[in-house]
Amino acid sequence: MIIILFDILMQYAITRNLSSNRVLKKTEQSEILKELEFFPIPVSLDDESLSFSYVDTWNQSRTYGGDRHHEGTDIMTDLNEPGIYPVVSMSDGVVEKLGWLELGGYRVGIRTDSGLYLYYAHLQSYMPDIKEGQEIKAGECIGFIGDTGYGKEGTTGKFATHLHVGFYLPDKEGSDEALNPYPYLQKLTEKTLSYHYHNYDYNKEDTA
Ligand SMILES: [Zn+2]
Repeated sequence: MIIILFDILMQYAITRNLSSNRVLKKTEQSEILKELEFFPIPVSLDDESLSFSYVDTWNQSRTYGGDRHHEGTDIMTDLNEPGIYPVVSMSDGVVEKLGWLELGGYRVGIRTDSGLYLYYAHLQSYMPDIKEGQEIKAGECIGFIGDTGYGKEGTTGKFATHLHVGFYLPDKEGSDEALNPYPYLQKLTEKTLSYHYHNYDYNKEDTA
């Protein structure tokens, strides 16, 4: 009896864990890819050493804030310094959320037309004119990579400077469900913009 109960509990745990590994239909995948236009970090036109890298850390365990699993991809900056690397919107959309989260630090959440929620976390700063409800174009600068989060508002330095990218897609009930951004980011690598990092007044003329 106890063994059966244990079995049921284990099954439940596995299903719960797998529920975040939503498998998308090919059509859903291509719908997402159609909306994604640029890799979220442009390369520097002036300094080749300002590079960045990422690996697939989907579902790795994280301990801050209780046992949980990594719901995204961390893009690590080779220069471990906040406020240097710009972040651009991967797609057109509307700024749905802006502000502090204990885990995410200063974050921007952008909702695309198809309903995909793109989450950019641990920012050092936002572009000054960005606000909730605002329409944003793919490639537009939204802020700068930092090391904010894991504490009360303004907490920095708890981890290396990086951009956390999260993808969330509403399920049938309408609640956002995490997707692994890694394969999509890989596809976007070939669509990376080039910027003068020192130029804060980004516009299309500055890109190449
Ligand atoms: Zn992360």
